[in-house]
Amino acid sequence: MFGIAIHGGAGVISRASMTPESEAAYRRDLESALDAGYAVLARGGSGLDAVTTAVRILEDSPLFNAGRGAVFNHEGINELDASIMDGKDLQAGAVAGVRHVRNPVLLARAVMEDSPHVMLTGTGAEEFALERGVELVPRSYFFTERRWNQLERARKGDRLSAADLGYYGTVGAVARDQQGNLAAATSTGGMTNKRWGRVGDSPVIGAGNYADNRSCAVSATGSGEYFIRSVLAHEIAALIRHRGLDAATAAREAVSQSLAGIGGDGGVIVIDHAGRIAMEFNTEGMFRGARDASGRREVSIY
Ligand code: ASP
Repeated sequence: MFGIAIHGGAGVISRASMTPESEAAYRRDLESALDAGYAVLARGGSGLDAVTTAVRILEDSPLFNAGRGAVFNHEGINELDASIMDGKDLQAGAVAGVRHVRNPVLLARAVMEDSPHVMLTGTGAEEFALERGVELVPRSYFFTERRWNQLERARKGDRLSAADLGYYGTVGAVARDQQGNLAAATSTGGMTNKRWGRVGDSPVIGAGNYADNRSCAVSATGSGEYFIRSVLAHEIAALIRHRGLDAATAAREAVSQSLAGIGGDGGVIVIDHAGRIAMEFNTEGMFRGARDASGRREVSIY
């Protein structure tokens, strides 16, 4: 069974302040990422290509906290993190703190495929992008009015909910292809008003992203520090591999115990070795979608 799941972040706009127009816009972009990723799988493409395709589309949307729509750090600069992992051979690539890369997922993939390293940061990562021909953009490309307003409110110390501050809009995708190979990708602008140089869970292999054909592929979104401390993506893979759980049971146990147990919030998307998809979260909602060869096709927010 092949399939794909995507997310556009947990901690969504509260139900009360979501207008029909903005809900339609979110759904439209989620559907186009989901369908483009699924199309790669349906024509026999790799899970790696499917997650790259889906995440790239979400990065290009101004609605999600990744790529174009990334949040600002305290200094008013966008610093982006991303990672990708191939479940076939546990190859992985990641970038952290990049400021000029249009699609950090493409750079993470280049790190995986064209370098001996797993993670590159900051200017070293951008120098590598230049060498590999990965598109660089001026910082103004990432300016959106909405994210700027969120930063100003956060700097003032307004009492805002995580959702209103624009937290947790990270994007990600997990897939299982027709050969049974799993892949995961995650990309983010991090947290609004974060300290300069702060790196979250999204580029940390095992925390915000993981893929292993023997267990599952996972992409996470939420309070990154807690995902790092609970090594949450790998925790789900370990529950599946060592205890024989399915995706849904493992995701529920990890989010409700390992993550919530230390005070973290957020969500995960998981596809296991049998192609079973789980989308689990402990926030009000999570932008998400799933599509597989059984005919399932759904996009949901709450
Ligand atoms: N997990 C991300 C981070 O901490 C934030 C998010 O999911 O939106 O950087």
